[in-house]
Amino acid sequence: MTTDSTSGQNALGQLYEQLGACVETAYEQREDHSYDGLKISSLPDAVIRVKEAVQVGKVLKIANQYGIPVTTRGAGSSLTGGATPIRGGWVLDLSLLDHLEIDEENQLARCGPGVVVAELQAKAAETGLFYPPDPSSKKFCTLGGNVACNAGGLRCVKYGVTRDYVLSLGGYLANGEYVQWGRATRKFATGYNIRDLWVGSEGTLGVVTDITLRLIDLPSSTRTFLGVFQSDEIALSSPQALRKLGLRPAILEYMDPWTIDCLQKYVGTEVFPGIEPHPMLLIEVDGSEQEVEAQGKLLEGWMAETALTYRSAATLEEAEKLWDVRRQGSSSMKKLASTKLNEDVVVPLDQQVELVRSVEELRKRHQIKIGVFGHCGDGNLHVNLMYDEENTEETERAVSALRELMSKVISLGGAISGEHGVGLAKTPFVREQFNDAEWDAMRAVKNALDPKNILNPGKIFDVFHPWEQKKISVTLSWELENEEPKPQEA
Ligand SMILES: Cc1cc2nc3c(=O)[nH]c(=O)nc-3n(C[C@H](O)[C@H](O)[C@H](O)COP(=O)(O)OP(=O)(O)OC[C@H]3O[C@@H](n4cnc5c(N)ncnc54)[C@H](O)[C@@H]3O)c2cc1C
Repeated sequence: MTTDSTSGQNALGQLYEQLGACVETAYEQREDHSYDGLKISSLPDAVIRVKEAVQVGKVLKIANQYGIPVTTRGAGSSLTGGATPIRGGWVLDLSLLDHLEIDEENQLARCGPGVVVAELQAKAAETGLFYPPDPSSKKFCTLGGNVACNAGGLRCVKYGVTRDYVLSLGGYLANGEYVQWGRATRKFATGYNIRDLWVGSEGTLGVVTDITLRLIDLPSSTRTFLGVFQSDEIALSSPQALRKLGLRPAILEYMDPWTIDCLQKYVGTEVFPGIEPHPMLLIEVDGSEQEVEAQGKLLEGWMAETALTYRSAATLEEAEKLWDVRRQGSSSMKKLASTKLNEDVVVPLDQQVELVRSVEELRKRHQIKIGVFGHCGDGNLHVNLMYDEENTEETERAVSALRELMSKVISLGGAISGEHGVGLAKTPFVREQFNDAEWDAMRAVKNALDPKNILNPGKIFDVFHPWEQKKISVTLSWELENEEPKPQEA
């Protein structure tokens, strides 16, 4: 639907009448909201920057009446095209809905969807409370986007993902009616759990305007280790090995030798002088000072026995240097080609070695640069494929490698996305993840909650080939900063 059609014009007229200055139709604003981190652009007819939640209901009532596509947007940091208005229509920008209240007595936070994750963490910390989910984008991404994608991050290995902290979600159905799923209670066993269905539904089943989150006690101390290991077998069995020792790391991150080689070439120094690129682990323990001391001792013993060599940091400044290795691994890959696809596949813990082996094989056979790093404590490894989109032949090889990777992940009992969602980027592969009955059930849910298919249409269910689109050339705000903020900074 475009504003050229009569009903599109009528809908826009009603929108202006009811929301006035919140509606923007100037080209610059529409262009600004035409893409997200995937950098594929599709121009909306209007951007609606609501100032209060009730306006969301008004927007949806009009959109539902006229069948206008509505793409809800937080910060637009999705890496999958989830916030790209691929069917045009309206972008509903919720970044101004950023009310935030910490309820110390009940250990919870009541937030608008526009609250930036790091701001919630900082505010909770003022009262000794802690909101653990920490996507690397936490300095700019919003809670609405995190709920919609069931965002993860570095600390999930100990603390879980966004869903584990959501007590209640208020928001609007596609028809503009207000609903509240769950309550501000620790338990809820009353009726269908549509709250958890909304979490991870990528703006396709409803629009979240009120979020109540569980908070826990803030750990007071951390200790960080960086170790290099003889083999992937040793490094990637660390989740099981550490559990058997009674260790519960807050962060357990892996980098493959290819990634280490890439970053050493990029920074020009060896991470561990005299040692060829080998698998590395960055591990952090947290808790009270006594807990960290005890956990740190156990971890030190394991490192001394298992690693080729390791370093540890007791202060934040020292830890910063170890974190640099993880940060530079990712940013160095960007130097290699015009396009870097960051896949966030997840496999059972005992299948991680098999996954890394199959990536090595894909790298050789397709002659594509592929680096693996990520959250090995969760089996959630980021597989990064670098290619030059101007080079058709190389792009074809990269796409073949990507297809094979996704099939392999599914055959290992894993999932094509562990934290970023499907959006547009994973639509060519998502069908393979589900059997007919599962796919039909998902479609039935979508039809029941959004019968006119106005909420983020084109996502999850319709196949879109991102590699056939030209990416736009823009520098995003987070690309100006370091890509991987340090987790302790919150
Ligand atoms: C440098 C970088 C690092 C990243 N690291 C991580 C990471 O470690 N872990 C991780 O999980 N992700 C990561 N991401 C991906 C991204 O930041 C997350 O998916 C985040 O949750 C998106 O939040 P956002 O506010 O930007 O949402 P947007 O990009 O605006 O939207 C994302 C999706 O959520 C929907 N949506 C947004 N708000 C609402 C709402 N209120 N109601 C209903 N639907 C809504 C949108 O329609 C869209 O489908 C990273 C991204 C970047 C650029």
